[in-house]
Amino acid sequence: MLTIAFILGAVCVSFGMCQARRYVEQIQNCNWSICDHCHQRLKWWQLIPILGYLLQGGKCVNCHFPITVAYPIGEFLGGGFFIYLFSTFSDLAAIQFGFLLTWLLILALEDFFTQTVSLNLLLGGTCSVLLIFGNRTFNIPLIQIEFWIIVSGSLAILSLNNYFGWADTCLISLFGILFPPITLAVIILIASCGAFITLKFSNQTTLPFIPWLLIGIIVTLLLHLTT
Ligand SMILES: [Zn+2]
Repeated sequence: MLTIAFILGAVCVSFGMCQARRYVEQIQNCNWSICDHCHQRLKWWQLIPILGYLLQGGKCVNCHFPITVAYPIGEFLGGGFFIYLFSTFSDLAAIQFGFLLTWLLILALEDFFTQTVSLNLLLGGTCSVLLIFGNRTFNIPLIQIEFWIIVSGSLAILSLNNYFGWADTCLISLFGILFPPITLAVIILIASCGAFITLKFSNQTTLPFIPWLLIGIIVTLLLHLTT
């Protein structure tokens, strides 16, 4: 079971990074993965997470351009985290969190490299997550609804005045439906601290917030704050 969890995690991260690249580089009408450098279509064995990288010796077999080590490292970490999910939570919860994290990874990478996110990816993913987390979406306690209205309302006002991104507001509102108030508060706190430190030590005036939200979710999962 743990081997399957590892493979699933590595495949999800591989898929997430590949999809993010398509959104960042706006590659359209391409149903098959291609080399970053020579744009040659990759063979099936080159697409195997981690193993594909090792079999190619870290270089494209066609143009010999080095493949970024971020792919195998990300896939390995994804595999390890999925082992944690399946050994800690129920199978249903592990699958739900796995889907949520894969989607957030695509959004976080797109936000990191372009400081925008695609509307279809954001809205399509939000609806899918709400359906996949149906057991939580349709059973929200009253206290959570009240907290959700206050948080989402405040962020919407900030977004209307361009102090905060609409994508960030949409995601935090979604988390407010999925998680109890304490979890949401911890996610926002971690993301805000991360964003504040980045602003403090970089020259940027604006910065991507979704990568920090993703880190916030991962930390709350590690701290068992998500139930
Ligand atoms: Zn190549």
